[in-house]
Amino acid sequence: MTHVTIIGGGPGGYEAALVASRLGAEVTLIERDGVGGSTVLTDCVPSKTLIATSDLLTEVGTAAELGVEVPKAVRADLATVDARVLSLAKAQSDDIAARLTLSGITVIDGVATIAGPGVVTAESGGETQQIETDAILLATGAHPRTSPDAQPDGERILTWEQVYSLQELPAHMIVVGSGVTGAEFASAYNGLGATVTLVSSRDRVLPGEDADAANVIEDVFTRRGMTVMGTSRMATVERTTDGVLVTLTDGRTVEGSHCLLALGSIPNTEGLGLETVGVTLNDAGFIGVDRVSRTSARGVYAAGDCTGVLMLASVAAQQGRIAMSHLLGDAVHPLDLGKVSSNVFTSPEIATVGMSQKQIEESGLQFDVAMLPLASNPRAKMQGVHDGFVKLFARKGMGIVIGGVVVGPKASELIHAVSLAVSASLTVDQMADAFTVYPSLSGSVAEAARRMHTLG
Ligand SMILES: Cc1cc2nc3c(=O)[nH]c(=O)nc-3n(C[C@H](O)[C@H](O)[C@H](O)COP(=O)(O)OP(=O)(O)OC[C@H]3O[C@@H](n4cnc5c(N)ncnc54)[C@H](O)[C@@H]3O)c2cc1C
Repeated sequence: MTHVTIIGGGPGGYEAALVASRLGAEVTLIERDGVGGSTVLTDCVPSKTLIATSDLLTEVGTAAELGVEVPKAVRADLATVDARVLSLAKAQSDDIAARLTLSGITVIDGVATIAGPGVVTAESGGETQQIETDAILLATGAHPRTSPDAQPDGERILTWEQVYSLQELPAHMIVVGSGVTGAEFASAYNGLGATVTLVSSRDRVLPGEDADAANVIEDVFTRRGMTVMGTSRMATVERTTDGVLVTLTDGRTVEGSHCLLALGSIPNTEGLGLETVGVTLNDAGFIGVDRVSRTSARGVYAAGDCTGVLMLASVAAQQGRIAMSHLLGDAVHPLDLGKVSSNVFTSPEIATVGMSQKQIEESGLQFDVAMLPLASNPRAKMQGVHDGFVKLFARKGMGIVIGGVVVGPKASELIHAVSLAVSASLTVDQMADAFTVYPSLSGSVAEAARRMHTLG
């Protein structure tokens, strides 16, 4: 029987553990902070739970347009919201731990290090165990980047892992960083009723996303009273008597009650003993892997944020599953980033799948694009949805759908139809032929496809 040792219990690790055990391996998973990893305990699950409350409040804010009078004082009690966030994360972690145990996986609560080829040590409560293993999967994740000039104190200057200890809504939250994490938290605290300033070193928010989508989000942010400071690079963040002071590199300052640092992530690769087996890091400091999750060392695989391939829970899980299929001789489908779907949980959401417009343009592929504002959709009108659009990309001539963007409420759900089309290489005509409900927001997805029909 093959013995696999997995270091890290996030989606990269636990999904791999379940696949490996199903394929007949003996599996040991070592996790230092709690099964579910950062995904469940500090990052994805908590932030989306917070956003669920914020989304509800944002929706209540549109009630008047739909003829419903709501009292002005509708507000969230942040202490209750944060307690719910943490208890939901804990419950999710417990569920996963129970599933692992039921599947016969040995879970060790400890810190793992590779001691040499085929040997992993696990340290827990002052005791060290040595585990002999046939293969290793590294799924150690990443942690928030900070700066010597912006040190989090867990009270006023916070990383995204620390915000759930807040007992009261910040009077003025300054979010530094306008990537996905920064934009999501800025949107969430704005929806919860805080004054929010978003400090962005780039000229627009969400520089990595579809430009049209980012423009919609920036418009909505400013319309909802958020201050978006573009081309503004943070130099320092300091505590003041009763708040924080953010100083920019050009000397301007912003004062607020709290500051959330969303400066990106650093892979957890230090002190793992990678050198003992010859696992090499790439130029960006991540563990280098191929499309079946192999590292440079024989019998050592890596998955998830520690590889930096695409920092998403879904990708981490897929890399972990692929690694185990490859190791244990099952059919392997190498990772295909051209088919990944992802979502930015701002309000409205931005969901994307397949190739982005920028990637298509850079690749030189001939393509057609159709973009349809949601404001023209009958269901959107009924629901008072004014912002958002559907955009599809298809290969010119063949009409094969290669990517899409949906901006709107619950875009994360609407994108699935486009995701199916991309994954099955459907044509715009096939997409348009599938019935959609009338009236529905998904009608706009089919209509965008219909607009790309060419005589054939
Ligand atoms: C605020 C935020 C929101 C996000 N929202 C989403 C989202 O909505 N959707 C999405 O797809 N992605 C989201 N992501 C990204 C997602 O959280 C990551 O891509 C995902 O966590 C990666 O999973 P992983 O298994 O690689 O690592 P993790 O989930 O970080 O798990 C790694 C685990 O390894 C453990 N570990 C590290 N070193 C050792 C060691 N030596 N011994 C034992 N254990 C060790 C760590 O304690 C950790 O628990 C979000 C990220 C952030 C920051």
